[in-house]
Amino acid sequence: MEKRQELYAGKAKSVFRTDDPDRMVLVFRDDTSAFDGKKVEQLDRKGMVNNKFNAFIMTKLAQAGIPTHFEKLLSDNESLVKRLDMMPIECVVRNVAAGSLTRRLGVQEGTELTPPTFELFLKNDALGDPMINESHVEAFGWAKPEHLAKAKELTYQVNDVLKALFAEGGMILVDYKLEFGLFNGEVVLGDEFSPDGCRLWDAETKEKMDKDRFRQGLGGVIEAYEDVGRRIGIDFDA
Ligand code: 5GP
Repeated sequence: MEKRQELYAGKAKSVFRTDDPDRMVLVFRDDTSAFDGKKVEQLDRKGMVNNKFNAFIMTKLAQAGIPTHFEKLLSDNESLVKRLDMMPIECVVRNVAAGSLTRRLGVQEGTELTPPTFELFLKNDALGDPMINESHVEAFGWAKPEHLAKAKELTYQVNDVLKALFAEGGMILVDYKLEFGLFNGEVVLGDEFSPDGCRLWDAETKEKMDKDRFRQGLGGVIEAYEDVGRRIGIDFDA
């Protein structure tokens, strides 16, 4: 496999073509952004930590029967993935109220959500990733109804696998965002799963161990990500 020209650069990752039209290389950079790119900083070791974190989680999900784009780690900050035709939407499941939900509905952070909620957002920085519903997805042709239904089913399946995994490490999976795409007609999990795109709290102290540390200027961002990783069995020195 040969890495070729850059396809695009996102806020935290860059994507490169390879000599195989169905495979891409994800490069996890140290850039950390929040508030639709309005706050950006470089955090030492972040690319390596998120790359290895994502590889570990995607492997766990694949073992649980969830199709993912992840193929293999290539280096400390690079992974080989399948090239998906991405749906321009974000699927969010929440087990506990936090973030935009508390602002939108005026509920107390920490309120348990039973059953967990499912929300959709349009991937559009200029519009601030607005919340949408299933009829918008269909009317605007962002995904076929059967593909959206599958993405929703997989998003809930991910919850079962990861809630248990993080609970074993003494953490609460508060919420998370997933992105899906199509590969040979199949709905497949793409993008990444890392503490950048989910909320994780220590089960005892409720300390924040995710990107909210960056958003809220709490410090110790990468130290917290590494702590989460070690608690679920990731060896960042491997
Ligand atoms: P909220 O809607 O509360 O801002 O986010 C819900 C969950 O989805 C959080 O775990 C948050 O990190 C994740 N999330 C939502 N939008 C984005 C996004 O554009 N980028 C990333 N990395 N995570 C997001």
